[in-house]
Amino acid sequence: MSKSTVSKSTAHQSSPREGDVLVIGGGIHGLSTAFHLAQRGVKVTVLEADYCGRHASGVNAGGVRTLGRHAAEIPLALASRTLWHDLKQVLGDDGGFVPSGQLKLAENPAELEDCRQRVRQLQALGFDHEVLIDQQQVFDIIPTVARHVVGGIWVKDDGYAVPYKTVTAFRLAAEKLGVQVHEATPAQRIEQSAGQWKVSTPKGLFSAEHLVITAGAWARDLAAQVGETVPAHPEGLMLMVTHRVAPFCAPVLGATGRSLSFKQFANGTVVIGGKLIGSLDFPARHGEVDMTRLGTSARTVTDLFPHLRHLGVNRVWAGVEAFTADDLPVIGASRKASNLSYSFGFCGSGFQMGPGTGRRLAQQILGEHSDISLDAFAVDRFGAIANATSPPDFQPVTTIAHH
Ligand SMILES: Cc1cc2nc3c(=O)[nH]c(=O)nc-3n(C[C@H](O)[C@H](O)[C@H](O)COP(=O)(O)OP(=O)(O)OC[C@H]3O[C@@H](n4cnc5c(N)ncnc54)[C@H](O)[C@@H]3O)c2cc1C
Repeated sequence: MSKSTVSKSTAHQSSPREGDVLVIGGGIHGLSTAFHLAQRGVKVTVLEADYCGRHASGVNAGGVRTLGRHAAEIPLALASRTLWHDLKQVLGDDGGFVPSGQLKLAENPAELEDCRQRVRQLQALGFDHEVLIDQQQVFDIIPTVARHVVGGIWVKDDGYAVPYKTVTAFRLAAEKLGVQVHEATPAQRIEQSAGQWKVSTPKGLFSAEHLVITAGAWARDLAAQVGETVPAHPEGLMLMVTHRVAPFCAPVLGATGRSLSFKQFANGTVVIGGKLIGSLDFPARHGEVDMTRLGTSARTVTDLFPHLRHLGVNRVWAGVEAFTADDLPVIGASRKASNLSYSFGFCGSGFQMGPGTGRRLAQQILGEHSDISLDAFAVDRFGAIANATSPPDFQPVTTIAHH
């Protein structure tokens, strides 16, 4: 489906149709899509199994990162970043966004060479948002970092935000535009008949002309109901938060040779992650922490900031996230059913993508021109790339471990 018949109500219409679009999943992707559709006058209902932001969107590390992304994601990530900078104007709330910059550290000459190649390859593709910096430039940005660091990649317009605040901001802005949000309302069966999608829930039947599945780690099973097989699986991703410590690091940090995502919030606490996989009780919709693996990440942090060696960890948790076979999300129209769209499988990096993806998916649903192609994220791409390492139409770019 590339064109949709979803109609746009106007502010002057006396009795707008109820339920033009049903969105399953009240994370950042569902709520951003709902908000952008409602902005265009569409009547949207969101069904959320738990409460909005209960899963990955509300419990993530808050990284707003274009740095280190797969080339296929960069145009959408950059477009999304523009929206992050405008969030206050767009939603009336900035989601706690701080444009702190993000820095990927190289800890030895070989890693610095990887960084150099990555920046060169991106430049050849026309992207100049990642900038190679030397040791002194790193020390100027973070005077407290260990002296073995030799340089890195700097992206000055990246940053971080507060996940639950952001999700709530999208929800409230969407509701102001008339979006109906039903929490504790899990979609059970989805069926299309006579041009309408019918979704059964414990609270009764919902119906709409267009259905959007933004159910995160649970989206795969809903897609399977229409015969769409997506190689995606859930994982429990872990984070830890330390006690408060005096300000020592303004930007978000990652490492080139090992897994790290690290930031200090204004209240002094330090959030440490890096796509650390814990364990998962999927039927219970619950991630579990593995303290041994968390310890590895804590060691990386104290290698880089020895003065944190005695800093206590205050809280640890794991959130449930969807990963796909090629580490790229599924965004766009179903290939099996009409008036059905997906946005899921963000592989640990979808918080940053939420604002921009919701806008582009809404455009696609409305059959409008979009400045960003979603072709790389097509749900039927997996067969075509079974024997390749990257999606069609994109050159491989040196991959640098990112959180
Ligand atoms: C610990 C952790 C750290 C992360 N750090 C970052 C980071 O720093 N930066 C970044 O960009 N990304 C990060 N991510 C990834 C990011 O959080 C996710 O990619 C993103 O939030 C996914 O959003 P979503 O809306 O697709 O899914 P979710 O937030 O999971 O939302 C899906 C919603 O659908 C609901 N649902 C499921 N099934 C049904 C059903 N049948 N009926 C109704 N509702 C249903 C769920 O209850 C859920 O609320 C991190 C993730 C985790 C877990």
